[in-house]
Amino acid sequence: MTFETLGLSAEILRSVNEQGYETPTPVQQQSIPVVLAGHDILAGAQTGTGKTAGFTLPMLQLMQQKHPERKRSHAVRALVLTPTRELAAQVGESISTYGKYLSLKSTVVFGGVGIHPQIDKLRRGIDILVATPGRLLDLHQQGAVDLSKVEFFVLDEADRMLDMGFIHDIRKVLKMLPAQRQNLLFSATFSEEIKRLASGILKSPVMVEVAKNEASHQVTQVVHPVGASKKRALLSHLIRQGEWQQVLVFTKTKHGANRLCKQLGEDGIQGAAIHGNKSQTARTAALADFKSGKIRVLVATDIAARGLDIDQLPHVINYELPHVAEDYVHRIGRTGRAGNRGEAMSLVSPDEDKLLRGIERLIGQDIPKVEVPGFEFTAEDFFDKPKEDRPPRSGRPHQRHDSKSPRKPSAGGHAKRAGAAHASGGKPAGGHRRGRS
Ligand code: AMP
Repeated sequence: MTFETLGLSAEILRSVNEQGYETPTPVQQQSIPVVLAGHDILAGAQTGTGKTAGFTLPMLQLMQQKHPERKRSHAVRALVLTPTRELAAQVGESISTYGKYLSLKSTVVFGGVGIHPQIDKLRRGIDILVATPGRLLDLHQQGAVDLSKVEFFVLDEADRMLDMGFIHDIRKVLKMLPAQRQNLLFSATFSEEIKRLASGILKSPVMVEVAKNEASHQVTQVVHPVGASKKRALLSHLIRQGEWQQVLVFTKTKHGANRLCKQLGEDGIQGAAIHGNKSQTARTAALADFKSGKIRVLVATDIAARGLDIDQLPHVINYELPHVAEDYVHRIGRTGRAGNRGEAMSLVSPDEDKLLRGIERLIGQDIPKVEVPGFEFTAEDFFDKPKEDRPPRSGRPHQRHDSKSPRKPSAGGHAKRAGAAHASGGKPAGGHRRGRS
């Protein structure tokens, strides 16, 4: 199958060709004709499958066909909601790329940066708005955005939206939309909650499902068993020995990400951390430095990494396993994207055994365990507890950011505490969601 056979217009095909895409991915093959035919869709697809083009290409085409020239109205015609700033920026970039030869205007709005430039842009008239929920509601409250004429509503990574506690914000946004519209909902997983949400939004949707682990087909997975306190040395060793130039490393907490970055620096390996406590400017700069090769390592938490799209990222390292098994699939989906090969390694200490079993159950396979020479597993490693992930005393103000998480220091029970912090590290408490959007 080719993009030409999907019924896409010459302008869209031109930008697709410029991207060097030869064949549509499975999610694109299924969703593009359905969206072009005007149906709502419920798509089971995760990042790395090409889903963004799957909804963007047909949507752009329909919008262009309907009103090729902008009318004087300032109302938004298409709204794409995403859970994170990075994903919003990524989707916005894709819309600009794929819509290069069309006359549609798009913009991206999210929190953490000044609201006034966003208000100015909206006032000048925008066809397609990509937004995180918190900032969108703020803009609406200030009368800066009119959603009453939305023709297309896209809910991207709906499962993550719910995980991040955005359900009430989504419901508020839905009330601002007209009843007549085309809806496209993407989710990597389908819980009962997602199904309920979908049934309230979609009208006679066509189901589009790509195989659960499609994204990870191209990814070689391996577990390196190692004592908790040897992880940092093992990571430096792997990076040096493999002469890796671009490595995305996942930690479970923001403080852990900062600490690891500092330690790698001490080992002569340049890196930057990206997480919810970093300003948007710092996050954007870190990502740009990583993409351009200025730094070799990007250390990220799950929330911050969601939506990162780095072309041909060869290595993903799970420095610590995620508390939620699905996050493992999202993490390794950062590599092996769109036809490229990738390598996902997990440094797993004995205290993470249960998490590893949960992941293997989810993906339906045993991940090969390979000891690294010089870092062989010893009996002492069983008693090697991970350090508690708490900011140093001087870092107190940051700690308050996660005040709902059970991270308060207490005497004893360190390993257990680290586990509890882990649980909160990957997911923001509901009350903080605005700050992160
Ligand atoms: P997504 O799942 O939308 O985040 O896309 C993952 C990556 O696949 C992005 O880097 C896209 O540029 C790339 N991509 C999307 N569609 C194709 C295609 N048909 N062929 C090759 N790469 C693609």
